[in-house]
Amino acid sequence: MGLYYIFTVDGDWDEYFYSKLSNSARQPDKKTLLAMIKREIRVVASINNRLLHFIHTSPVTPDFFLQPEFIFLWREIKARGGNVGIHCHTEDLFHEGRFSDLEKMKKSISSLTGSLVSKGINPISYRGGYMAFCEKSVPILEENGLLLDFSCDPGRYLRLKGELIADWRGAPETHYRMSYEDHRKPGNSKVIEIPLGKAGGGTLYIETTSLLSVWKAARALAKKVKEEKRDIIVSVLSHTYEFASFRKRLKITLALFICKKYGIFVSDEEALEIINQQKVQQ
Ligand SMILES: [Zn+2]
Repeated sequence: MGLYYIFTVDGDWDEYFYSKLSNSARQPDKKTLLAMIKREIRVVASINNRLLHFIHTSPVTPDFFLQPEFIFLWREIKARGGNVGIHCHTEDLFHEGRFSDLEKMKKSISSLTGSLVSKGINPISYRGGYMAFCEKSVPILEENGLLLDFSCDPGRYLRLKGELIADWRGAPETHYRMSYEDHRKPGNSKVIEIPLGKAGGGTLYIETTSLLSVWKAARALAKKVKEEKRDIIVSVLSHTYEFASFRKRLKITLALFICKKYGIFVSDEEALEIINQQKVQQ
């Protein structure tokens, strides 16, 4: 019985979010991205290398992170005890909170997953860009062996360009087996949701909050473990672009240090083992 965290880093860069620019102006810079991901690898030495780096794919650049230099880094992350996951920025496919084009969504997930598997890298985790998700994704994740989803930010209700892309109102604050009918509810699919850590008025979304808030969340989650006498597994969230500055890396390092006082960082594969050993909330 304990508090477990998975440190997740979404592999995005600043220019991607300038959506008014042309696709060519939103491309990542290879040298910069390689340097920042290497910094991620260095920073996570303090948490026993338990990094879950989410590989970005989007219509802006579907295959950028499949270049040999990046594959080398994904292998290194795995060799050190971490893993990589699938991060699809398909927010433009949403209409009224659901995918308007399921085939494009399927292609986006299975093409990146298939390419990694063909290189001997087997991801088991998924996170939607902007935490976007709809229950139609659940069977797609199952088909691709992505048994853990990290898109849940409990309470999040996000509209982008007028479209609802993420609705996590009412979702549980600890891991649960997802329902096929409603991604915010426990059910009987094969996919386990691991939400972003939020409790006690704090959050583990490092760059949007203060270290005090990280401390509040970690302390409240540890208290919950004791009171409810069960394991709690949540994610701690950051982004690759945050690793550009020394000040931000220092904040991430301190946030991880605070979290460590109350729980243990594990890889996604270790989390799955823990979940398989316990009775998941039905
Ligand atoms: Zn993202």
